[in-house]
Amino acid sequence: MKSFFSFLHRHRYDILFSGILFLLLMFIFIVLPKEETKNVVSFLENKTFDIRQNVIAKDKKVNKDIVIVTVDDPSYEYLIETYGDWPVPRNVYAKILDYIQEQQPKYVAFDLLFIKSLNRIPGSDDALIEGFKKYPNTYTAINFDDYAFELRTPPVIDKKIKTDIIFNSDNILPRKFTNCRIIMEEIIQATDKIGHINTPKSDDGFIRTVPIIVNYPRYNTSDNTELADEYYLYMTVKMAVDYLNKYENAGITEIKIDKDNNLLLNDRKIPLTEDAQAILNWYGETGIEVDNTFKYVSFWEVLKSIEAQEYGKQGLLPNDFFKDKIVYIGTNVFSLSDIKTVPTSKYLPGVEIHATLFNNILDNNLIHRASMPYNILISLILAIAAAFTVFRIRSVYISIAFFTMLLGLYLYFSTFVMSAYNVWVWVIIPVFLSLFIFVCSFIVKYLLKSRDFEYTYKLATTDGLTELYNHRFFQEQLRLKIKQSERLKTKFSLIIIDIDFFKKFNDRYGHQAGDAVLKHVANTLKKSVRNEDFVCRYGGEEMTIILNNINKDDAIKTAKKICENIASKEYELTPELAVNITISLGVSTYPENGTTPAELIEYADKGLYMAKENGRNQVGVL
Ligand code: GH3
Ligand code: MG
Ligand code: MG
Repeated sequence: MKSFFSFLHRHRYDILFSGILFLLLMFIFIVLPKEETKNVVSFLENKTFDIRQNVIAKDKKVNKDIVIVTVDDPSYEYLIETYGDWPVPRNVYAKILDYIQEQQPKYVAFDLLFIKSLNRIPGSDDALIEGFKKYPNTYTAINFDDYAFELRTPPVIDKKIKTDIIFNSDNILPRKFTNCRIIMEEIIQATDKIGHINTPKSDDGFIRTVPIIVNYPRYNTSDNTELADEYYLYMTVKMAVDYLNKYENAGITEIKIDKDNNLLLNDRKIPLTEDAQAILNWYGETGIEVDNTFKYVSFWEVLKSIEAQEYGKQGLLPNDFFKDKIVYIGTNVFSLSDIKTVPTSKYLPGVEIHATLFNNILDNNLIHRASMPYNILISLILAIAAAFTVFRIRSVYISIAFFTMLLGLYLYFSTFVMSAYNVWVWVIIPVFLSLFIFVCSFIVKYLLKSRDFEYTYKLATTDGLTELYNHRFFQEQLRLKIKQSERLKTKFSLIIIDIDFFKKFNDRYGHQAGDAVLKHVANTLKKSVRNEDFVCRYGGEEMTIILNNINKDDAIKTAKKICENIASKEYELTPELAVNITISLGVSTYPENGTTPAELIEYADKGLYMAKENGRNQVGVL
């Protein structure tokens, strides 16, 4: 019991620390709901994705054939001043479309919804509808939502807009929408170059992915029951398929998803998440004439160039500016709320998301997540390395430095594989797991070390046979005791004990029996004194006791009690043989009988000698 409590006392910090760690883990794994833990982990993991994206964005080059025409703030003001309220009459877009198409671009895509509206201007809309008829390389968009049936009857979309998809994977489940913001019927009649532009944000408001495929089931309009799943492609994917077929003879006739969740486009592939989204590989923050950002042109610049052309003058833009280009037209105005936050840019015109996806498809560098077993393997390797660092490196500082370096290397590795192979490996779980293992290893190492120390300490201070403190410990303790009593002006006493006629006993019963008696006496002595007293083996069959805070009279009383304890009990050597053991004792007390170890021992020895002289089995009092 005594050693157990002293163990607790000695390891109080370890126990406290382990306890806190344990509670923390309990909190993470039990108190926190599983869903929440998962959310926190994925939130943090997404942030590491953002950091990696920002690091590698500098090294990506954008395709300079992609041009973005945006209604930016100056254009917006100019349009409102010229045409009144937003939206502007659609013949403005028709005019721009004509102007761009004249220069023979590869594609023109409107990231705008040409919805039905009451105050439409028929002639103006017709010009745009004409445009869609004239230019089959022009794309536009629809948008899905989940508005109530009561608010808007889900429109039936012409079958030519949907895409049949061959699913060879059971893990893909495109997001399902129950309603759709349909565009002008005449545009749908004029063209089938229509895709969706739904771009949902993650929980933290960032856009990292785009839904490549969504599901807008056909409904029975009489009772709103679902009839069949119908899939729609993201506008840019539809355009990319046409591009690959036309300019690279890709021969894509069907949209197929392989068993590894990739949407296959001949030699390109779009890795899909479980909800059929693609993780984009983002480019740098928008700038002008920088290698890794897209080329932007303002809407007003195009309008002014058209005006100049009408007057036979050279406009701001060269006359072949849009030749062979892939042109995206969209807005970049805060008030039109088409500003998005993406990993590499806080304010990104929504239209650039299309440009990014198109560029990613052409460069075949969409991000795919490393598979689960691979991520787990990495986590384990890092965790083992953490434990290895602790157990193999003696110095705490060096192991911390080494481990920090290891984590740094891992972060570098995770960024490198994203840059070189477009792979997203886990960062949060491996790093936290290895950190946890690192700390745990330290605790284990420390506990083992202290247990080792304890064992060595015991070896150095106790006697193997009797398990009493040894001679060295006794001398040291006696010195300390004197110093302490000197300082605190307290007393203490010393008892010296010698077993009577022990030589004879040995001769008669043998040394083995003698050893057993020594142990027996030692145990009886230990039981006869208080916890804070020290019972030591002085040498041979002589033992000493240091009694704390005790005066001469009480020390003599204690000695007498011990003498009686030993003498009164018969000791069973074997079941058949019980023997009587007696001891003789001498007592000395600090300070009256001596103030040095030698004086105190000599005085007690004299008492012992006297006890022997007077017939043994007694306390010799001088
Ligand atoms: P006295 O009553 O005068 O003390 O007689 P004694 O025979 O005990 O005399 P003394 O103290 O001089 O004898 C010590 C004996 O104790 C000698 C030795 O045989 C025995 N002894 C010392 N250490 C051990 C030990 O570790 N084991 C055993 N079995 N005997 C020991
Ligand atoms: Mg002796
Ligand atoms: Mg003796």
